[in-house]
Amino acid sequence: MKKNLFMVSMLTFLLFTGCSENSRNNNQDLTKIGVAIYKYDDNFMSYVRRHIESSANEKATLFINDSQNDQAKQLEQVDTMIAKKVKSLAINLVDPHAAVTIIAKAKKENLPVIFFNKEPEYEVLNSYDKTWYVGTDSKESGILQGQIIANSWTQNKEKWDLNKDGKIQYVLLKGEPGHPDAEARTKYVVEEIKNANIKVEELAIDTAMWDTAKAADKMDVWISKYGENIEFIIANNDAMALGALSSLEKAGYFNNNKIIPIVGVDALPEALIKIREGKIIGTVLNDAKNQGYATFDLAFNAALGKDVLEGTQWKLDDNKAVRIPYVPITKDNLDIAEKSYQ
Ligand code: BGC
Ligand code: CA
Repeated sequence: MKKNLFMVSMLTFLLFTGCSENSRNNNQDLTKIGVAIYKYDDNFMSYVRRHIESSANEKATLFINDSQNDQAKQLEQVDTMIAKKVKSLAINLVDPHAAVTIIAKAKKENLPVIFFNKEPEYEVLNSYDKTWYVGTDSKESGILQGQIIANSWTQNKEKWDLNKDGKIQYVLLKGEPGHPDAEARTKYVVEEIKNANIKVEELAIDTAMWDTAKAADKMDVWISKYGENIEFIIANNDAMALGALSSLEKAGYFNNNKIIPIVGVDALPEALIKIREGKIIGTVLNDAKNQGYATFDLAFNAALGKDVLEGTQWKLDDNKAVRIPYVPITKDNLDIAEKSYQ
């Protein structure tokens, strides 16, 4: 009997601590919202998460999970959150195709789901009336990045066109293959440079999975292979742009006027410092703050059974998506980006 009691109290203890580990705000009366981030170890997502948490503050209890880049793990986390009786889910998918599975789980419980940052296909989103998306228009970031490249190239051609053939010889660091942002940025950045009547030649393209260290490794290889032939480095995000920069610095660049222009996306505070120093030429603000706020607002309204937009400043497009605009950032308007990441 004593042994049983001990076991029961141990179990209760484990359940309790296991639960409080990932739940913020333990006020029993607050609405419970379940959140999963594809991995905490992603620079940009850490800012989105921060803003979801800060807006929940006294309003809701968040059950927030690190899916550790493992879709199977995320599905288990969803099951656990459903068991804990959350009233809505906010999901940053690991695999964009897993939305179907999550919707099937939510539908059974009549539970609303807000997907954010990784956009599911529209048909999937449209298969359930209680699901929405918060993110951006991925294509826009590619176009704006292309414009930054075209403008700066036109102004600096004399210096930057190393082989004087009038073309930009570039390397491109891609985000996660299959991620809508990575695919659209890669396609539209190049299209937009061509639209400005500038010829391009791709020396190399490969994924560095949004990651600084992987980008630095890739860049080390490209510098030794293509060296002085590289005239531009295009990165799908700032984390990879920073990796490329550290590799260039190691190879002796940004010393004695030897530079290769680098451009990123996100406007992370670390990248803004490098833009100010003239080591990265520009980025595109991916507004983590407003994406975090909008994700929480929709998830909170949905949890209360209200219209998801009630009392908010957000608008839905025809694809049931709130899309936060991108903003091109260079040395001239760093203040806009600084405000957004405060
Ligand atoms: C950001 C990347 C980030 C990715 C995560 C993108 O929108 O630009 O920095 O790694 O989302 O899904
Ligand atoms: Ca050239």
